[in-house]
Amino acid sequence: MRVEDPKFKAELAAIAVELRPGASLAALTSLGIGGTTDLLRISKRQFIPDLISLLERHHIAYKFLGGGSNLLVGDGELPWVILQLAKPDPEIVLDGNLAHVDAAADLGRTVTYCAKHDFGGMEGLIGVPGTVGGALRMNAGAYGMQIGSFVREVKLYRAAERKIEILRGHEISFEYRHTSFAPDDMMLAVTLELPSKSFKEILQGIRICNEKRRSSQPLGQKSAGCIFKNPPGASAGRMIDELGLKGHSVGDAKVSDRHANFFVNAGQASAKDMLTLMANVRSRVEKSFGVKLEHEVVVWNA
Ligand SMILES: Cc1cc2nc3c(=O)[nH]c(=O)nc-3n(C[C@H](O)[C@H](O)[C@H](O)COP(=O)(O)OP(=O)(O)OC[C@H]3O[C@@H](n4cnc5c(N)ncnc54)[C@H](O)[C@@H]3O)c2cc1C
Repeated sequence: MRVEDPKFKAELAAIAVELRPGASLAALTSLGIGGTTDLLRISKRQFIPDLISLLERHHIAYKFLGGGSNLLVGDGELPWVILQLAKPDPEIVLDGNLAHVDAAADLGRTVTYCAKHDFGGMEGLIGVPGTVGGALRMNAGAYGMQIGSFVREVKLYRAAERKIEILRGHEISFEYRHTSFAPDDMMLAVTLELPSKSFKEILQGIRICNEKRRSSQPLGQKSAGCIFKNPPGASAGRMIDELGLKGHSVGDAKVSDRHANFFVNAGQASAKDMLTLMANVRSRVEKSFGVKLEHEVVVWNA
């Protein structure tokens, strides 16, 4: 979708929103798949309610992009614009055991920054790419921990109220790759409460998690991490592996040879290729195990 109206462009500039025309979602996502559309970069968060009402007045649909590491985006010209937060400086402020972190901050850098100041707990998140906002939305987690466990409060734009609010941790439910935020809520910042730990001890935990990832995941390849959620008490990867589907492909979309729940873009895969591969695998798993796998990757199909 292209923003052409000069009046609309002037209104965006007046609320400090930068227009980046014709952004490629293939370049902005870790899977390297996706068409093009205009990207709107938000620098002043207090103007978000004005931005949303401006988009609604002009009947422009939108989606919210974090770091693009859990997204499968459709091909071609996309029928919505992309909103993304610009990174503020500083991204993280520590205050005792509390870390006030901007949603646009890189998750890995947040974990290491806190570690260097002797705050731990989030070692498992070290290899999870993307932003803190995306991690909150997805309740990112690994190796027995999840970000939701550390959330004291979240500052967010609540679409239903049309305003920026603060939610306390106990008002939010964080489940396995699922949260109680409304689909159109926008995370702006979070306060994390972290246990004190020595940097040395945290580093040891980080090294163990890094080693586990390196030995089991196709880290040099384009992927969105696990493509399906694990069903209760079972492993999606194990079921796919047992069906002999590692290496199975549609065009350049391929089930990783290293980790059966990682689907990789081995070249120029299209969204159509990846969706067909996902549907094939899903139906094979359902036929053999009677389990309907749920997507973990967020699909933005045009
Ligand atoms: C190699 C690899 C390994 C991975 N390993 C793990 C893992 O171990 N555990 C795990 O949980 N995940 C893992 N992932 C998936 C992914 O990194 C996480 O889901 C991550 O938290 C997504 O963050 P993001 O900023 O990239 O979000 P995006 O991919 O940009 O967006 C994902 C969803 O969050 C929404 N969103 C993003 N930012 C915001 C915001 N500020 N406010 C509201 N909504 C927002 C988007 O609209 C979208 O619906 C992995 C991915 C890769 C590529």
